[in-house]
Order: sequence, then structure tokens, then C-alpha cells
Amino acid sequence: GIKMDNFEPALKWADLKKNSDGMVPVIVQDYRTDEVLMLAYMNEEAFETTINIGKMTYYSRSRQELWIKGMTSGHIQYVKSLTADCDYDTILAKVSQIGAACHTGNVSCFFNEIVKKEYMEKNPLKVLEDVYAIILDRKANPKEGSYTNYLFDKGLDKILKKIGEEASEIIIAAKNPDPEDIKYEISDFMYHMMVLMAEKGVTWEEITQELSQR
Ligand code: AMP
Ligand code: ZN
Ligand code: ZN
Ligand code: ZN
Repeated sequence: GIKMDNFEPALKWADLKKNSDGMVPVIVQDYRTDEVLMLAYMNEEAFETTINIGKMTYYSRSRQELWIKGMTSGHIQYVKSLTADCDYDTILAKVSQIGAACHTGNVSCFFNEIVKKEYMEKNPLKVLEDVYAIILDRKANPKEGSYTNYLFDKGLDKILKKIGEEASEIIIAAKNPDPEDIKYEISDFMYHMMVLMAEKGVTWEEITQELSQR
């Protein structure tokens, strides 16, 4: 394996709390999306191997052997980070996953639903992308009576005037004791800001990219 130069983990195997089998469970997450991919166990050798080669290595309880994930399938997991939880009995691994984590071919091992109550399936911020997509669609395919199309037809100066107005309304609402007001005004502002983004051809991806770099 490739031994990384000057590399010492902040925590050692001895610092971790083992289960009754002398192992530590590892929750594996995609480092880009945070999707939970699988759960497996490490013994000491698996832990040391993982750190030494930079590829997730477990102890296979069914095969009773050291298991470098992806050795036969090619579905290797490159280690991005390893973190112990609050009481040192579980490891969270963030990985760059090649192919599917699950031997069934599914991206994640977790697909056998047990209970599912109503909840927001997606990141609530996804609504910003959804609204932006609708605004872009209105621009491409104008719709009769659409306020968004009215703004695009009036042009940049009208959009900028609305942004100025809505910004002032946020300020007024922030000083208003009714706590409900500000959420309407921020929503109005963000909608008009997205119309401006569409008018100027700026995407959410560019904005979030810029913000994350600061
Ligand atoms: P791999 O490590 O991907 O080359 O797969 C080797 C073997 O490990 C497979 O044939 C499966 O039996 C098992 N295996 C692979 N991935 C998983 C997983 N996510 N969960 C449980 N078993 C797995
Ligand atoms: Zn805790
Ligand atoms: Zn714990
Ligand atoms: Zn699986």
C-alpha cells in the first residue's frame, strides 16, 4: 500500500471503544452528497489498513476475513475523512465511492423501507432551485397573465426597481413587531432576486460556488 508521508491519525485504535466482538461499526457516507451508503465493521487490522492505504477496509463477519471494499467489484471507497462519535464507539467515514456501495448494485445499502412518515424528502433549500427553474421556464415559454413574464417584458429597470422596493419592505418588516411579516418580505425579495438572476443569466450553482469559496 501507499504510506502517506508524515501522516498520523489524531485518534488511534486504542482510543476507540470496541463492541463485544472487538470491533467498531463504521457508517459510510458519500463525501459530496452526505448520502449514507452502508454500515460495516472494522477490527484493528482493518482500521490500520484503511489508514495506511487510504481505501476503506473492513472485517467481513460473514467471510471472517479482512475485506478491502471493492477488491472484487472494483467499487473502491477512497477515504476522505474518518471521525469518531461522541463516545468513541462508532466511526463515520466520508468516502469517494467508485460505483455502487451495495453489492446489489444500489448506490446505498439502505433501500428496504420499514417506516416512512410524511416529511420533506429533499433539502428545503431545493425549493430555491425549483422556483428558479420555473422562472427560467417562464422566460423561455411565456405564459398568459404571468407576473414573471410581466417583469421580463418590462425589462431590467423594472426588475431592479422591484428589488429596491422589496429590500425596503424587508427593513420595514424587520422593525415591525409582527414576526410573520418578515418571512413574506424576504420571500418577495428572493423571488425578485431570482428573476434578476434569470435576467442576467446567473445560476444558483454559481452563487453557491462563490459563497462556499469565501
Ligand atoms: P466488494 O468488496 O465490493 O468487491 O464485494 C465483495 C463482497 O463483499 C461481495 O460479493 C459481497 O458479498 C460483499 N459486499 C460488498 N459490498 C457490500 C455491502 N455494502 N454490504 C454488505 N456486503 C457487501
Ligand atoms: Zn453525542
Ligand atoms: Zn456512540
Ligand atoms: Zn448492501
